[in-house]
Amino acid sequence: MEKLQPSIHRQKLRSQARSEIEFSKFQKTKCRYCDNGLEEAFLDLGLSPLANSYPQVFDIEKEEFLCPLRLVKCPICHLIQLTHVVPPQMMFSNYLYVSSTTQTFRDHFSEYAKSLKLKLKKKRNALAVDIGSNDGLLLSCYQREGMKAIGVEPAENLSKLANESGLTTINRFFDVEAVKEIIGKYGRADIVSANNVFAHIDDIQSVLRNVNQLLEDSGIFVIEFPYLVTMIEDLLFDMIYHEHLSYISVLSLSYVLDRFGFRIFEIDYHPAHGGSLRVFIQKIGGPYAVDISVEKYLEAEALKGYRGRTVYEQFASNVERIGAEIANYVSELKSKEYSIAGYGAPAKATTLTNFCSLNREQIDFVVDDNPLKQNRLVPGTKIPIVPSTYFIDHPTDYVIIFAWNFEQEILQKLKKLKSGIRSIIPLPELRVV
Ligand SMILES: [Zn+2]
Repeated sequence: MEKLQPSIHRQKLRSQARSEIEFSKFQKTKCRYCDNGLEEAFLDLGLSPLANSYPQVFDIEKEEFLCPLRLVKCPICHLIQLTHVVPPQMMFSNYLYVSSTTQTFRDHFSEYAKSLKLKLKKKRNALAVDIGSNDGLLLSCYQREGMKAIGVEPAENLSKLANESGLTTINRFFDVEAVKEIIGKYGRADIVSANNVFAHIDDIQSVLRNVNQLLEDSGIFVIEFPYLVTMIEDLLFDMIYHEHLSYISVLSLSYVLDRFGFRIFEIDYHPAHGGSLRVFIQKIGGPYAVDISVEKYLEAEALKGYRGRTVYEQFASNVERIGAEIANYVSELKSKEYSIAGYGAPAKATTLTNFCSLNREQIDFVVDDNPLKQNRLVPGTKIPIVPSTYFIDHPTDYVIIFAWNFEQEILQKLKKLKSGIRSIIPLPELRVV
């Protein structure tokens, strides 16, 4: 505790005092995978705003909604999850994260669709349904592989964008009605995919029931999510935000899949989001042979202690250490009157800036190449988000790369825009390049 930056410490105390009463309506008491009672939280990141609720510049004086950001472990299925769940309607109705913005993701999903096409035994007229299809990037990749592709996307702005580009998207949450509509119009799916949404849904049990309805008995259910073990080992605490409800291990995932009649048959590791797993799943009795990777991941997690508590308690104390390190480093630069900007305003930037108490006083602006985020503010910090051309007229000594998972892409862009800027990579460890 004494290692903490004073401001972080204050933030935590504020959180503890207010949260118990004010936020009890958001508090979870039961595990979303196995319905058992939850233990005490092992990590407290204080009160944080919703990571993807970027206020408009003209709303700078408006008070933002804050909610405790804490992690707890289920003692039975070992799922790591948030203690407080904000209703999805408050988070996903107008989502500004657009997956087509970066080349890295365009390549990623193109390869993704190809790999599924290869696995699928049915070669012609396959139907692929993507849950949480965002702006339809993966749908377009499925189409290129000759598949019929349908998206389900709750954000109105994104599904409109997708439909306008000819990518059929149903604008709703993935519920019984969505499944009925798809089966009625197109039949059952050969592929159901869900990327970076499995961790975002509270009622995962109804999702699994619905996928079971929608998927052909010989079909593939494939999900991709940031991997818990990478988050813990690389100290990626900025992956923790209110939209991200579950922090998934293979141990916990196989537990919940088993309850709903599914089996994992292959696991691939991908570098997306700092480290993600792509997990291929079939119905029990499905046609695919179980790959050696499944046992390998289960054994490795058990050996590393992911059923116990120690590994998580160590993570929590390391997070406090690196949070203080980042806060101290930025304060030091500021005291020497350097000008500091940020690059990238992904959801993770909200967690990092709020936990490290970084705000407008230290960081002049954050550039983001997504036009939907420009002229808005990084939640909780009042730091304005601007286009990258802003660097040309605004001298900057240091740039914190908040979207550090796109480090190489961003460093290249920065080099072209302006010379002499030094870059700070906050995670997995604080570096200056
Ligand atoms: Zn559980």
